[in-house]
Amino acid sequence: MSHVFPRHTKSNLPTVARGEGVYLYDTTGKQYFDGSGGAAVSCLGHGDPDVTNAIKKQLDAVAFAHTSFFTSDPAEQLADKLIEHAPDGIDRVYLVSGGSEAMEAALKLARQYFVEIGQPQRCHIIARRQSYHGNTLGALATGGNEWRRAPFSPLLVETTHISPCFEYRGKHDDETTLDYGLRVANELETEILRLGEDSVIAFVAEPVVGATAGAVPAVEGYFKRIREICDQYGVLLILDEVMCGMGRTGKIFASEHEGIHPDIVAVAKGLGAGYQPIGAMLCSAKIYAAIEDGSGFFQHGHTYVGHPTACAAALAVLTKLTDGGLVERCAAKGDLLQAALQNTFAQHPNVGDIRGRGLFRGIELVEDRESKRPFSPERRLHATLKKEAFNAGLICYPMGGTIDGKQGDHILLAPPFILDDNHIDEIVTKLQIALVKSL
Ligand code: PLP
Repeated sequence: MSHVFPRHTKSNLPTVARGEGVYLYDTTGKQYFDGSGGAAVSCLGHGDPDVTNAIKKQLDAVAFAHTSFFTSDPAEQLADKLIEHAPDGIDRVYLVSGGSEAMEAALKLARQYFVEIGQPQRCHIIARRQSYHGNTLGALATGGNEWRRAPFSPLLVETTHISPCFEYRGKHDDETTLDYGLRVANELETEILRLGEDSVIAFVAEPVVGATAGAVPAVEGYFKRIREICDQYGVLLILDEVMCGMGRTGKIFASEHEGIHPDIVAVAKGLGAGYQPIGAMLCSAKIYAAIEDGSGFFQHGHTYVGHPTACAAALAVLTKLTDGGLVERCAAKGDLLQAALQNTFAQHPNVGDIRGRGLFRGIELVEDRESKRPFSPERRLHATLKKEAFNAGLICYPMGGTIDGKQGDHILLAPPFILDDNHIDEIVTKLQIALVKSL
């Protein structure tokens, strides 16, 4: 009997045996196409020798040394490389072990920044209803996914949530896309004024919403208006690129598509590409200077901050992404994947929307295309789809409808950037089988 505490206690999962390229294999020898990179993690696929060799080399040198005594070459080089590719103004990197930790660090740094500069009255965070920012209590409080929050809500710090920017569900028929983006962005200003002009710490958002919505980018102009509002009221803009960052959308940072610069940005998943657990919180020179000139101490830390082995892995991953042309490949293959999904599923009576950026794609399923009516949640279509796709040898990341009960079940695809055109056909074919068996 296994003593591992699985997420679903009644689950009966196969045992993974090995990974090679875009495939995973279980102990019976069954092959699975990793169409979602787990949860948008495995951007390089499995068994990449450059990354595994970098890890082995670091293990032979020194696996771990605590950051209160030492820095390390991999940590320094990784931070330099991240800053080289980061949005303008971003100047410092805090290395953690995953996405939730990166978001916790972001939230705490944002609060401490205002304490240091003499604005301790700022204590509110604003985020969006369609969002997930991690499972630790602070990150969970920030996220707007009711299902995830509900059991823990008495323990959560009060955060308020405005509408997401979700064109398929939110745009009125009689408004332009641009007007829609401005309308929902302006909800931020209304909320800041409601809470008190100088009482908000930060606005938090994913540039492309991942797990809770199924690869939903904002419409053009939305984030520019958000940035303007943040600047006007001295509110920090924290972008959560844990899922959509590190090349997944076809740019190293997803915010590059928006032409805006965050004050703080969190990355994880693709940074370690699954070879090591690692995340990073990056902040602007202004925020760093406030701490440096103030208390001189970011009141935070975890034992494994800046873990040398994890940093060595991430450095090898980032080098492959940036110097090996993989981000450009992701953009190009992403366009092909979108076209293939459109060709095959756009006319399907239960496909409402096909969306995303790069190799980060979502398909939303509806019972009725005309009214966009979702399937009833009791049907648990996402769970059936996951099972049928898995049986057909495809790992994808389906999720049930959330956001005020108005969103349909969706499938999230986030395959490794190394995939070739035949693999795109394989995803589509296996998805077709899963859909036929599930509907
Ligand atoms: N933020 C976003 C957007 C995520 O998608 C996730 C995980 O799915 C997290 C934060 C939390 O990251 P982790 O699971 O590595 O703690």
